[in-house]
Amino acid sequence: MNYFIIKNIVETTLQHFACKECGAKATEQNIQIIGTAGNSLNMEVICPECQTSGIIKAEMNIMGVNTSPAQFAEQLKKTVGDKRKQEAIKDADIIKVREDLQKTHSVSDLFNS
Ligand SMILES: [Zn+2]
Repeated sequence: MNYFIIKNIVETTLQHFACKECGAKATEQNIQIIGTAGNSLNMEVICPECQTSGIIKAEMNIMGVNTSPAQFAEQLKKTVGDKRKQEAIKDADIIKVREDLQKTHSVSDLFNS
């Protein structure tokens, strides 16, 4: 999985995210990348308002290098599931993102790097 694509997924996910309990929007500080499962990227989002946590699974099977942001957003699907359904980390790029997150504590730092 491409590191740039992961960053795009996080940005797009935040644009479309709304807390299932209170409808609040999340920011880069509220999202954690958990890992990949096949062609999907799993992320955990903690609501900044009510602290409800949810798992977001972004499907990436139709994404390509030439995908426009609008097409990308169209293809992005989200599902909220149980934390215990997390898949194992399978991709070195995800591990890199996690390492960066541990250093920076914020996905927004990744965007600025
Ligand atoms: Zn909430």
